[in-house]
Amino acid sequence: MTLSLAETRYDRQERITWWDQGRLAASRVLVVGAGALGNEIVKNLALVGVGHVDVIDMDRIEHSNLARCVFFRDGDEGQAKATVLARAADELNPLCSVRGLVMKVQQLGDATLLDYDLVIAGLDNREARLWVNAACRRLGRTWIDGAIEGLQGLARVFPPEGPCYECTLSAADFHAMSHRRSCALLSPEDIVSGKTPTNATTASMIAGVEVQEAIKILVGREDLVALNGRVWRLEGDSMMASVIGYVEDDQCMAHDWWEELDTDDHGATCLDDIAQRLHDTWGRPERILFSDDVIRVGDCPACGAETALVGARSVLPEGAGRCSECHGELPTESTTSLTMDDPLMTVPFQDWIWPDRQFVTFLSQDSEIHVVVPGGSDG
Ligand SMILES: [Zn+2]
Ligand SMILES: [Zn+2]
Repeated sequence: MTLSLAETRYDRQERITWWDQGRLAASRVLVVGAGALGNEIVKNLALVGVGHVDVIDMDRIEHSNLARCVFFRDGDEGQAKATVLARAADELNPLCSVRGLVMKVQQLGDATLLDYDLVIAGLDNREARLWVNAACRRLGRTWIDGAIEGLQGLARVFPPEGPCYECTLSAADFHAMSHRRSCALLSPEDIVSGKTPTNATTASMIAGVEVQEAIKILVGREDLVALNGRVWRLEGDSMMASVIGYVEDDQCMAHDWWEELDTDDHGATCLDDIAQRLHDTWGRPERILFSDDVIRVGDCPACGAETALVGARSVLPEGAGRCSECHGELPTESTTSLTMDDPLMTVPFQDWIWPDRQFVTFLSQDSEIHVVVPGGSDG
């Protein structure tokens, strides 16, 4: 009798009674963030043999990352974190396919999340967490969050039902974020990149907890998941750990579950194409809703430069609200909905700054459908 390489490689973990290597090998996971947590998350996913892992991060490796990131080496500085991490993890376990995506997670668009069984985050900012949370929630995907600061850390699981990440935020948290968001269009230099104190051991422990829960979900043993709607909190000084349940907020804006999805763009070149098709096949659309604000920037009133553009707020280039010629403030307009006679309806998608595959909601008098809109330019 001969054993395949995969069988012997995974022998010890397969002795865990509920383990299912086949399901892990068939799983697709998106890891958001390729920093200290992302390195440890991807390392664990590759070691246990999760078949397909995509890791997304727009940042490049800095010298100070080397002390916390197991896959980064001297000489990697300046290279994209996601690319280096994916390559190294691919070598760690050739039975896994790990891809690096160098972009913001928002650039993927919510429709892309349907390609994955699970999303695991190693993020350092609330904006990206909010985006992941809302997109996973409406598409019925579970996501796992982790955070570290100093010797403290937390890990938590947000399934499509029950309390979500947004439920855990206070009004003051939202106020701080909306201030940062409105600044983002104007002064990128003001956005201080998060330089919180962290170290390798805390990252390793928190990522370990995140992936432990991920494995249970991926092999279909939801009954074993301990952190659904709950947080595992580690105080690294005292080594005290606790589990606390979150309370669901009935008024939470993120609790929007989408039933009718149309993931085929049918070759549409503008929103009006989609509206026409829906009119013939589904019903008469009356309004469009965007889950991410759409920003229209006008031409520069001060110097007359042609600066007009349109796009989703989360993927607009930083500083898009300021004239590149005279540095004057540009007129901007933000909208979350359109009527069918809006001039934007006929603007070709290629002229939009838009995520790769993002749903747009069409509303008729009595129903709604979410149609994928293909990516425009990258800004
Ligand atoms: Zn919520
Ligand atoms: Zn100008």
